Amino acid sequence: MHIETDYDVAIAGGGLTGATLALALDQAGFSVALVDANRPEAMESEAFDGRASAIAFTALRQWRNLGLDDRLQAAAQPMDRIVVTDGRAPGAGAGPALPVRLSISSTDLGEAEAGEPLGWIIENTRVLAALLAALDRSGVTVVRPAQVTGAEMAGNGGRLHLDNGRTLSARLLVSSEGRRSVLRQAAGILAETAGYGQTGVVATVALARPHEGTAWQHFMPAGPLAILPLTGDRASLVWTERDDRARALQTLPEAAFTALLARRFGDDLGRPTLIGPRFAYPLSLQRVSAVTAPRLALVGDAAHGLHPISGQGLNLGLEDVAALTEVLSDARDLGEDIGSSLVLDRYARWRRLDVTGTVTAADLIARAFSSDHDSLRWLRGLALGVADRTPAIRQVLAREAGAAAGDLPRSLALG
Ligand SMILES: Cc1cc2nc3c(=O)[nH]c(=O)nc-3n(C[C@H](O)[C@H](O)[C@H](O)COP(=O)(O)OP(=O)(O)OC[C@H]3O[C@@H](n4cnc5c(N)ncnc54)[C@H](O)[C@@H]3O)c2cc1C
Repeated sequence: MHIETDYDVAIAGGGLTGATLALALDQAGFSVALVDANRPEAMESEAFDGRASAIAFTALRQWRNLGLDDRLQAAAQPMDRIVVTDGRAPGAGAGPALPVRLSISSTDLGEAEAGEPLGWIIENTRVLAALLAALDRSGVTVVRPAQVTGAEMAGNGGRLHLDNGRTLSARLLVSSEGRRSVLRQAAGILAETAGYGQTGVVATVALARPHEGTAWQHFMPAGPLAILPLTGDRASLVWTERDDRARALQTLPEAAFTALLARRFGDDLGRPTLIGPRFAYPLSLQRVSAVTAPRLALVGDAAHGLHPISGQGLNLGLEDVAALTEVLSDARDLGEDIGSSLVLDRYARWRRLDVTGTVTAADLIARAFSSDHDSLRWLRGLALGVADRTPAIRQVLAREAGAAAGDLPRSLALG
């Protein structure tokens, strides 16, 4: 079958990863179509996504370079310190907190990254709003609301079939559809999903004391409580609990919820006030059998799904975007076919190590830190204590948080 292609690249899924990819490919000179199931007004509303993301400083630079306007910077809170504690939370009613703490700060970063924060925290809907505005100013053909219902791949290109009857054709199809990818299924790529029996309850609170750019991760028997600093002395919480307890937390009267939360917070931040709805995200691990197929590449959550414990899911997706854009641009400059297996293999090989390592590490940390077994607690305490007292380890952790480590695409590397 021969396909007359309308675009260089057609992308299914215009969330944080897909919208970033569309802008990056447009900036690199490719003709791009982007399809998403949602209306823009829905994506910018508070109810669409309650999460804030901890992103590497390299990721914020990537968005700035793609022309996202000042609204992005205004919404971004620098994260200058990460404090990790292990044990039962102060006052949680199950015994005293262990004194074990690991504290990493931006001063642990190396000379090359000096002056950067460890990362930034931004509410997802604020990033989406900035991405949608940048898409409006770009040359990307945006088709929304429309659902991709099927796809065909041929020797020289692929076609996306949409629920509005339209068909889009391109030399390369990309799925950034998140965990339930129609394109992945159409290409016969297998996805294996394993639930953790945990749900992340997400909420935004106003703090009684200034957070001073500190993010907290309290590890507790049922799972971690992350407190991520937001602009205006607010914080975004990811409170991980077993599924049944999480359901109860979500429906608990507000006063009871904040009282429980205050006990989990300990003394460092004072009593929080809930300032928005509570959201629940069931947590699971998803691995796929391949990230490419003939005429198809996967990016973001369509390619890997991990526990949010280390705040790396979106960061990995943004690195996929930078790597794929660089591979395709180099291929075009060499006169190669951007949808060929030869070119797509380069992308798959580049991402394999980083993705496998990050997904495996998040899985191990999630399992190790969600257990109250005595020997595991002892080991965790030892690991955190040693890391806290060893500047070289703190530097490695600080560089990992800022994504200044590894084989980075040019658009993410330090200038
Ligand atoms: C509680 C929690 C906290 C997290 N915190 C962090 C963090 O601090 N840092 C971090 O890096 N990561 C974090 N993550 C992970 C991060 O949120 C995800 O990795 C990221 O949102 C994935 O974005 P995506 O664009 O790849 O997929 P999605 O957000 O799933 O977007 C997919 C888009 O594609 C559209 N779509 C899907 N199928 C179709 C179709 N067939 N046709 C048309 N459109 C379609 C959808 O409507 C959607 O708009 C967290 C995750 C959770 C659950």
